[in-house]
Amino acid sequence: MTSVDAHEPRASSFRPAPLRIGRVAWLQILAEAWRVYPEEACGVLVGPTGTGEVVRFEPITNADASTRVFTLDGAEFAKATLRADREDLDVIGVVHSHTHTSALPSPTDVAEARKPLVPPTWYWAIASVAWGEPELRAHMVDPDGAGMVETAVVLTH
Ligand SMILES: [Zn+2]
Repeated sequence: MTSVDAHEPRASSFRPAPLRIGRVAWLQILAEAWRVYPEEACGVLVGPTGTGEVVRFEPITNADASTRVFTLDGAEFAKATLRADREDLDVIGVVHSHTHTSALPSPTDVAEARKPLVPPTWYWAIASVAWGEPELRAHMVDPDGAGMVETAVVLTH
């Protein structure tokens, strides 16, 4: 019952666009997840503003250095944001790994995603490397409800 509230079907009309990500970026997320395992890896997804089109994944140090939670290192996040801005791109999402649980947002993730300073349009992509085949799922804050709505993840090229 840890994350049911995060993804339980609800009567929301919100239908976010799928997150479209290339296999190279997906493998880079996995590489970062295994590099810092068993701590949680994190980083940002960069792409054109207002889309789910991932141009690249940028790993960012988990300032919490924790197996259970993550905080994007502030200086590295600022650099990634500036780099994206110079290319007319944007940070369109945040990604982190779960090393002990599934790829669904934890109650902590939902609370973090809904904080006032976190862009509500961000995709929250979670890579689970807890067991078996690694899994990537994405959610977005539900503007019509109290939780998050799952978005499809499409592996491109
Ligand atoms: Zn999480």
